[in-house]
Amino acid sequence: MQFELAEEHRMLKDLVRRFVDQELMPLETAVMRRDVDTGRPGLSHEEHARIDRVSREMGLWGLDAPEDVGGVDLPMVAMVGVNEEMGRTITPYTLPPDSPNLRMMMATVNERQREAYLAPYVRGETISAIGISEPGAGADPAGMLTRAERVPGKDGGEDWVLNGRKIWISRAEEADFTITMAITDKEKGARGGVSAFLIDKGTPGFNVLRRIPMIGGAATYEIALEDCRVEGWKLLGTEGQGFAPMQLRLGTRRIEMASWSIGMAQRALDMIVEYAPQRKTFGLPLSERQAIQFWVADAATRIHAARLMTYDCAWKLDQGRDVRVEISMIKAYATEMAYEVVDHAMQTFGAMGMTRELPLSLMSARLRTMRIYDGPTEVHKWVVARNLLGSKR
Ligand SMILES: Cc1cc2nc3c(=O)[nH]c(=O)nc-3n(C[C@H](O)[C@H](O)[C@H](O)COP(=O)(O)OP(=O)(O)OC[C@H]3O[C@@H](n4cnc5c(N)ncnc54)[C@H](O)[C@@H]3O)c2cc1C
Repeated sequence: MQFELAEEHRMLKDLVRRFVDQELMPLETAVMRRDVDTGRPGLSHEEHARIDRVSREMGLWGLDAPEDVGGVDLPMVAMVGVNEEMGRTITPYTLPPDSPNLRMMMATVNERQREAYLAPYVRGETISAIGISEPGAGADPAGMLTRAERVPGKDGGEDWVLNGRKIWISRAEEADFTITMAITDKEKGARGGVSAFLIDKGTPGFNVLRRIPMIGGAATYEIALEDCRVEGWKLLGTEGQGFAPMQLRLGTRRIEMASWSIGMAQRALDMIVEYAPQRKTFGLPLSERQAIQFWVADAATRIHAARLMTYDCAWKLDQGRDVRVEISMIKAYATEMAYEVVDHAMQTFGAMGMTRELPLSLMSARLRTMRIYDGPTEVHKWVVARNLLGSKR
């Protein structure tokens, strides 16, 4: 059994670590100030452009994109290290292109869509969103009601007309296109009746109703699809078979989330380890107190466990194995673990831990949302248990 990362993947992880330390960490003070002043802890346009240029020059774009559209085609094990390093900072930045929709498109695009959507996406020229959740269907997307109906199109072809409502959609306002899930066969539902559509920004009938501020500086959007006409060739993948590539997309994000969580927990642990020996109460440093020692020991143990589980899951995925249960395990375990480790760091720092001048409060709020999106913890635990209990029946 080999527990070492391949040399080139370790070097890549080190490179991303340097990028985070030198480029993203120095922006954290400004990000926190913006969070306090405006509730939007983001980068300015200039900062974003500069970070884009630097990360591109460092060769950090398209890491897991296919080579034929300009990517490096790295396996998932390599991406775990990349995302662990990216998770250490609260400066919000995604190395283009964002992997989940990339993976979904890689599994589904035809030649025309490859040219029109995938290639510009890999080049970092476009931003995408995914529209799955609805007011009545979140944790259980099979309950979605948005309908897509076939209508005669121009040139004797066929178009689709979508009607319904989506909610909690990240980036919906700025995205150049939103992959929108809809029912194309009501009888079959999630088993052969859900399809994916590429809907461009500004398409008539694709109405972004409102921005919904979330905790941690995130924002989502509510969308009304009102007779939204989509050209036939923008059906992504096979009609009715949208659920499996959508799950592939969700799985990619869940492994990323586990990796980010490990990075965040590691940062919080490093902060405790640095601070606890310096702060004295009742004549002794905090590091001499068993309560804090237990937090340190438990955090180190659980980070180690989460890291091993995440690499194991990524490796199995790279081997083409079915990792649905492992993905649920790591998504639930790593996000909950990191939330608790960050909470213990906040407690260790006392009043300083309650300020918005340390990265801990933003990390905590982000992890709080991560315990919900891409499947709440309870649903992932249910998946694991159902798999075990079901197999005993
Ligand atoms: C910051 C953020 C960003 C998001 N971005 C997107 C996006 O870009 N695109 C998109 O489509 N969606 C997005 N979502 C939506 C997200 O995926 C859903 O919120 C999530 O799947 C839960 O759905 P829900 O909110 O409807 O909760 P519900 O489905 O109502 O569930 C509520 C709670 O019930 C419990 N529960 C539900 N089912 C079970 C079960 N089987 N067993 C035990 N307990 C259960 C859980 O505790 C759960 O938290 C985002 C959400 C957030 C918070």
